[in-house]
Amino acid sequence: MDLRVRALETLLVQKGYVDPAALDALIETYERRVGPRNGARVVARAWADPAFRERLRLDATRAIAELGYQGRQGEHMVVVENTPDTHHMVVCTLCSCYPWPVLGLPPTWYKSAPYRARAVREPRAVLAEFGVVLPEATRVRVWDSTAEVRYLVLPMRPEGTDGWSEERLAGLVTRDSMIGTGLPRPAAAAGGPPA
Ligand code: FE
Repeated sequence: MDLRVRALETLLVQKGYVDPAALDALIETYERRVGPRNGARVVARAWADPAFRERLRLDATRAIAELGYQGRQGEHMVVVENTPDTHHMVVCTLCSCYPWPVLGLPPTWYKSAPYRARAVREPRAVLAEFGVVLPEATRVRVWDSTAEVRYLVLPMRPEGTDGWSEERLAGLVTRDSMIGTGLPRPAAAAGGPPA
């Protein structure tokens, strides 16, 4: 695969279709600036600021752009909010649609055929394999991301985090908790007394 990509890149550059500097800028962007820490900041803000949370509900694309996260594969964002009654989980059954500006590039398992099929057919079994076991009474809703709409899960705020700063809260937000295949870290995992 490496060789094929390099051969393709060489050909495209030779023919003048792509600028190597532009490619470097794209790679740099996704390696360093775009990733799940962005989504964690969105979630932490929603936990800390009820007005932001409301804006997120009404128009997630716009609310997320307030924090400077926008662009390719994040044009039509919908945030689904976990509650004690309902747990949300995201998949792209067709391919690998994923909200790049807030989560970066999708993990390999997200793109795999078994996840794409089983997330829909047996979501609880998939969740259990990720170590997430929910109460029987909790409903699981699976959202199919597409080229049109990208979903971001807003996990429940962990207990024992009253008064925490947004930065500290963001430290509890995992990538998988924003896909719905994980939960945030418990407050105890952050260590130390409340700041
Ligand atoms: Fe897709």
